Amino acid sequence: MEDAGLERLMSLRGLRRTPQRVAVWNALAESPGQTIRELAARLQGSGIGQATVYRAVRALEDAGLLLRYAAPRGELRYAAVLGHAHLLVCEECGSVRSLEQCGLAAYEDEVARTTDYRISGHTLVVYGVCPACQEAL
Ligand SMILES: [Zn+2]
Ligand SMILES: [Zn+2]
Repeated sequence: MEDAGLERLMSLRGLRRTPQRVAVWNALAESPGQTIRELAARLQGSGIGQATVYRAVRALEDAGLLLRYAAPRGELRYAAVLGHAHLLVCEECGSVRSLEQCGLAAYEDEVARTTDYRISGHTLVVYGVCPACQEAL
């Protein structure tokens, strides 16, 4: 998938491009919303050990290329992103997609003004029921 964008962002953020990191990111881009255990099981077949998967997930998350979120049942899942994004999660089927448009700049300004905090960023996960699940209900 978006390998050119990924490569550019990895170098932009000082993250060394290793085949393992790229494999982890690609696995989550192809099948978003996996737990780290599911991801490790999936990548075992490619000869990537569990400890390597955990380290790659942490490095990619620190670089803002993976987002971690609490799924409707509470377990932590991951989605691959290319830069700032919000996540939209279906509470019925658990599907997740990213929303690249962020409308929260004015909100951050207001929070900064009313609290005197110096704001460094935010994460947002939006929950709902996807169109396919609405039809099935
Ligand atoms: Zn759904
Ligand atoms: Zn945002």
